[in-house]
Amino acid sequence: MLVPIPADTALGGGGSEGGGSAAIEQAADTAIDQIASWAGIDDLRERIVVRETKGPADFLEDYNSWRGGMLGPAHILSQSAMFRAQNESRRVSGLYYAGATTAPGVGVPMCLISAEIVLKRIRGDHSSGPLEVSADAPSTKGTA
Ligand SMILES: Cc1cc2nc3c(=O)[nH]c(=O)nc-3n(C[C@H](O)[C@H](O)[C@H](O)COP(=O)(O)OP(=O)(O)OC[C@H]3O[C@@H](n4cnc5c(N)ncnc54)[C@H](O)[C@@H]3O)c2cc1C
Repeated sequence: MLVPIPADTALGGGGSEGGGSAAIEQAADTAIDQIASWAGIDDLRERIVVRETKGPADFLEDYNSWRGGMLGPAHILSQSAMFRAQNESRRVSGLYYAGATTAPGVGVPMCLISAEIVLKRIRGDHSSGPLEVSADAPSTKGTA
């Protein structure tokens, strides 16, 4: 289950079989109970075979993510499109950024587009649309 919570390391980290911080385990319990109620499975908690939680403190410690955030800046208007932090540093010449915390945003496809934007910036390519795929690039299609 993916449970949205604030990017706040004070909430603590997760653990095995209920061994995480009180706030994280409580959030997990609440989410499990909600699903149990929606699905009409009263003993859902007891049916769980493996329980492992992760919290903001884990994201800070394991991935060095800012404030333990899991997905980077939210896509509110002031952090979206041209208002979102862009891919080129304003302070350090030649420093570029790719990934979820920069433009265009969160998610693996967005991160790949982000890398593409960086490459286009470095090449001075101001064209719209995706890069051309060269004829000798490895195929991403399976052969089976
Ligand atoms: C639970 C969860 C589910 C998700 N589900 C989906 C999904 O279904 N589909 C989807 O498209 N996206 C999903 N996402 C989002 C997606 O995973 C991220 O947007 C994407 O992985 C971000 O890629 P990134 O390269 O920017 O950062 P990351 O993948 O976080 O990579 C950054 C790497 O840099 C390392 N690092 C940090 N600091 C340093 C340092 N100082 N030195 C060296 N290395 C460092 C970190 O350890 C990490 O390995 C999900 C995310 C989460 C958390």
